[in-house]
Amino acid sequence: MAEPRPSQEALALDAADALAPMRGRFHLPRGPDGRTAIYLCGHSLGPQPAAAATAVREVLDAWAELGVRGHHEGTSPWLRYHERFAPGLGSLVGAMPANVVAMNTLTVNLHLMLSAFYRPSAGRHRILIERGAFPSDRHAVVSQLHHRGLEAASSLIEVGPADAAGPIATEALLAAIEEAGDSLALVLLPGVQYLTGQLLDIATLTDAARRVGAVVGWDLAHAIGNVPLAIEASGADFAVWCHYKYLCAGPGAVGGAFVHPRHAGGHGLRRLAGWWGHELATRFRMGPDHVATAGADGWQLSNPPILSLAPLAASLDLYREAGMTPLRAKSLSLTAFCRRLLEARCPDQVAIVTPRADAEHGCQLSLRLAGGAEAGRRAYARLSEAGVICDWREPDLIRIAPLPLYNTHAEVDHAVALLSSALD
Ligand SMILES: *Cc1c(COP(=O)(O)O)cnc(C)c1O
Repeated sequence: MAEPRPSQEALALDAADALAPMRGRFHLPRGPDGRTAIYLCGHSLGPQPAAAATAVREVLDAWAELGVRGHHEGTSPWLRYHERFAPGLGSLVGAMPANVVAMNTLTVNLHLMLSAFYRPSAGRHRILIERGAFPSDRHAVVSQLHHRGLEAASSLIEVGPADAAGPIATEALLAAIEEAGDSLALVLLPGVQYLTGQLLDIATLTDAARRVGAVVGWDLAHAIGNVPLAIEASGADFAVWCHYKYLCAGPGAVGGAFVHPRHAGGHGLRRLAGWWGHELATRFRMGPDHVATAGADGWQLSNPPILSLAPLAASLDLYREAGMTPLRAKSLSLTAFCRRLLEARCPDQVAIVTPRADAEHGCQLSLRLAGGAEAGRRAYARLSEAGVICDWREPDLIRIAPLPLYNTHAEVDHAVALLSSALD
């Protein structure tokens, strides 16, 4: 592949980018030719922040030097280690620090929330999700139904888009919520849909579901660190997410959860409990009865995997430094630029599935190729060979996500040029 020559426009946009230095704070993977790849896969696994190794090293050093005393001594004692993440996570999801916690992994957190918040009765037992939900979310919901002796056929409502893998209309979701009415126990939706990149109207949908008396949970896996969020103000009961996508905290990183402050005491929820959710003041008296910590911390079960938590500190520092408002502005610029180039250079071969309006998307664009799945797979393989890292999702989508923390307009320009030649 010839050396890229980015357009004047791409170069001018990058020259004016105040966030440009953030790119140097990441280890970016190399492509097959040994040069830095064009990494457009942060929606799946974020690249490694350079400071991640230091954060992990600090924990290893404290363990080596202090042994068990590391729980109470050193710069970040493990007893309260998880607390350092709450302010950063709270600001990313739009919640007070007391109402968020880094713990477990996404699907585990989803089960914890569903086990407490899904309280079916004879009349109110239905759960509403989107058709085409991320498989793990559907598995969690269906297995929770089975756990209560219920069946998906009668207790699960799945609302799909008009076009099989297109965006879901807010009106369709609102109509389904209205129709289910007082049979609706719980609504679980994605903040940003993983396949299409559609950003849902969290405030409107939460409000509608709560008005019919349902509990509302959000899966923010593809939303946190991607788009500005105001989960607490929306009134949602809970949210869960992972940190290995936009948050760059590493493969299998510890996940996160939000619980609305009206549930701070956990009353009436019959939630599952473990010792790390017991209030700190009396936890080590080792008494038989559980006294929950107020807020999201009360949902913890085990003492957390400190080594797996450590890299999150590095990426939250980067988010704090960059600021979500400038990140979103650059993200909109990158994604709009990408869309414009795709529309100009491959108008007949590429259909962009992701909605166009700013309020309805984050970084990601999902591309469906005119030649169908086979053409899509071939173009994806050629992009990979040319050093563009993105992903292919069955049945027929290429997902690309330019991220404002480390991508440039020149990279977007180059990637679209490569895609357009891969389609020839
Ligand atoms: C990434 C993702 C998951 C992954 O679940 P883990 O428990 O972290 O393996 C689940 N749901 C959604 C919507 C996702 O985007």
